[in-house]
Amino acid sequence: MLSYRHSFHAGNHADVLKHSVQSLIIESLKEKDKPFLYLDTHAGAGRYQLSSEHAERTGEYLEGIARIWQRDDQPAELAAYMSAVKHFNRNESLRYYPGSPLIARQLLREYDKLHLTELHPSDFPLLRNEFQKDARARVLRADGYQQIKAQLPPPSRRALILMDPPYELKTDYQDVVKGIQEGYKRFATGTYALWYPVVMRQQIKRLLRELEATGIRRILQIELGVRPDSDQRGMTASGMIVINPPWKLEQQMNNLLPWLLEALVPNGHGHQLVKWVVPE
Ligand code: SAM
Repeated sequence: MLSYRHSFHAGNHADVLKHSVQSLIIESLKEKDKPFLYLDTHAGAGRYQLSSEHAERTGEYLEGIARIWQRDDQPAELAAYMSAVKHFNRNESLRYYPGSPLIARQLLREYDKLHLTELHPSDFPLLRNEFQKDARARVLRADGYQQIKAQLPPPSRRALILMDPPYELKTDYQDVVKGIQEGYKRFATGTYALWYPVVMRQQIKRLLRELEATGIRRILQIELGVRPDSDQRGMTASGMIVINPPWKLEQQMNNLLPWLLEALVPNGHGHQLVKWVVPE
């Protein structure tokens, strides 16, 4: 039933948004000298070759990372994310895209921890190989939602939990809310970052209503759209829902999104949003 492969989509506009937010949260957590856990429930393969058959077939990265990685007017908010992308592309050509676990690997300190789970039989071994020599990381072939229960609260009492399911199963829309509730019950001070695609706007409205109904506070929504909402198939926008965001994130995204929108959607048909779904 696991048919989704991130290799078709790596480096697209949704990854640019997700990984910008991920990097900014990590950099904020690093402002304190204390260790933290990076828990990636749906980690993917880790590294994506952009000249592969999968990436070339869709060409999605051409309208994503390829549009921004070499611009010389990048806002400061992109610095950490771009340093990770450049680490994997040391010369002028864009050959590899680092997924969320490799971005975290680049940005985390020696004393931070990574816990990564991936279920796909082809992507899991790729991910495990990437981290073979990294003593900070545990890589499991396991259900990411279960790990929320198993790993929280972390001994360090500080964590970023990134939830990035493929939403190929309709149940993902309910499972993410349950997962956040389970996590929050155990560890209310963690930062939870949930990615979502806008394929049918109604699904996202329902997801937001369900999150609001949990009673959890401090829920920030960040969205970048590349086309107007539509009833046709296909993703028109994507977003991140961040619970307990670092205090600077709202302002950072307000600085960054206009630049990203102009760079990624030069035809002017996109949109951006930073909004408290539930404030303090
Ligand atoms: N987070 C990655 C990144 O940003 O580079 C991309 C992840 S991709 C969107 C979603 C991944 O979740 C897929 O590789 C899929 O195989 C995996 N997956 C699906 N259901 C899962 C589950 N219940 N637990 C763990 N992984 C799962």
